[in-house]
Amino acid sequence: MYRDIETIVVGGGAAGIAAARRLHQAGIKCLVVEARPRLGGRAWTIAGPMGSALDLGCGWLHSADRNPWAAVAEEQRRTIDRTPPPWRRRSLPYGFPEGAQREFLEAQEQFHARVSERAQKEPDVPAASLFAPECRWNNLINAVGTYISGAELDRVSARDFDNFDDTGVNWRVVEGYGATIAACGTNLPVTLDCPVLRIDHTGKRVKIETTQGVLTADQAIVTLPSTVLVRTEKLFAPALPDKIEAAHGLPLGLADKLFLSLENAEEFEKDSRSFGATDRTATATYHFRPFGRPQIEVYFGGRLAHDLEAAGESAFFDFAVSELTRLFGSAFAQRVKPIHVHRWGNDPFANGSYSYALPGMADCRRKLANAVDDRLFFAGEACSTADFSTAHGGWITGVVAAEQVIAARTRS
Ligand SMILES: Cc1cc2nc3c(=O)[nH]c(=O)nc-3n(C[C@H](O)[C@H](O)[C@H](O)COP(=O)(O)OP(=O)(O)OC[C@H]3O[C@@H](n4cnc5c(N)ncnc54)[C@H](O)[C@@H]3O)c2cc1C
Repeated sequence: MYRDIETIVVGGGAAGIAAARRLHQAGIKCLVVEARPRLGGRAWTIAGPMGSALDLGCGWLHSADRNPWAAVAEEQRRTIDRTPPPWRRRSLPYGFPEGAQREFLEAQEQFHARVSERAQKEPDVPAASLFAPECRWNNLINAVGTYISGAELDRVSARDFDNFDDTGVNWRVVEGYGATIAACGTNLPVTLDCPVLRIDHTGKRVKIETTQGVLTADQAIVTLPSTVLVRTEKLFAPALPDKIEAAHGLPLGLADKLFLSLENAEEFEKDSRSFGATDRTATATYHFRPFGRPQIEVYFGGRLAHDLEAAGESAFFDFAVSELTRLFGSAFAQRVKPIHVHRWGNDPFANGSYSYALPGMADCRRKLANAVDDRLFFAGEACSTADFSTAHGGWITGVVAAEQVIAARTRS
């Protein structure tokens, strides 16, 4: 059935789907080979209470005014919510009065200015080295860093952090960002439940060994997360040490979401937000009434997310309740119930949430994206130098890799 494949796309997340869609449009016979029983990868929508769509992975169309997934959502006649995101608005005043919020935003802006000023100078430094000495807001800036990068800023390259390009426009898809991405792949040739074990590029045709057998093709586009590239022993034959080294420089940070139901939710403004604490890094952020629903979307990042994952799913709920009752009083515990949490660090086909570059490793993104011998091409959010860690970064790199395949096939 799969004998005349021209290009195999390894991985059916945002990048793989975008790549396959472009190849398909160009009339190239391609096949997406995906390890999970579903498409979407780190884009994943599940059904929540009363039919609400819960995005366990990507939820925000970042840089929405130039994000290709926004057009796909419109093609699919989805409902786009353009309400400004909570982080672009004032936080709730509980434990964080307005004067303190102003001070924090100013300190955060000055931190970003120092990062920008330093970013292109040699040597690259950890972003945390640019904190103002003794500034009382450093812990909270670091906490926000864990939501952005999935890691504390002492582990993050200042250059890479600054390279991220964001237009500041953030929308959501009511029916789910993950559902939109997965649906984009429904008419593509896909084989699910099919982990790739080895990519042999010794002979004229690339040989892809999977748990369901061996496939061959003229080219392959590899969209595996950097964690999977590092972890899968002898993935490439012959070995590609430069690729694996580049992937080592781009680990996946950790961010997890916990969804809670909330009684008497109307007390809170739709799409409002609180930090659990403002004086430490190990704190979660609480998004009240997302889309107006009687829910709280809780975001955990960095070491806190690691520690809670190690302690088990209920640890997320216990931590959230401890922070919420400190902010709103002990009776608040009766108003919330857990709906769902997904531990992305424990997820065997992701082992993390999104990539960041270690200090000195910003250039690994370009190295990871480089093609090998006009036959192996690479895509995935970690390959993007300006839109990394996002689903649209996945799309953009997927389309670039597909264009490279099209050009290579024209040459041969
Ligand atoms: C909690 C969380 C919140 C996020 N929030 C946002 C957000 O608001 N906005 C945003 O833009 N982005 C967000 N992201 C990031 C975004 O989801 C990812 O950057 C994007 O989905 C990555 O797409 P990708 O195709 O590069 O990788 P993936 O989606 O990881 O795709 C790679 C695919 O390869 C498959 N695979 C793995 N191993 C194998 C194997 N051996 N053989 C075959 N297939 C394999 C995987 O199952 C997966 O489907 C979030 C992520 C998380 C986890």
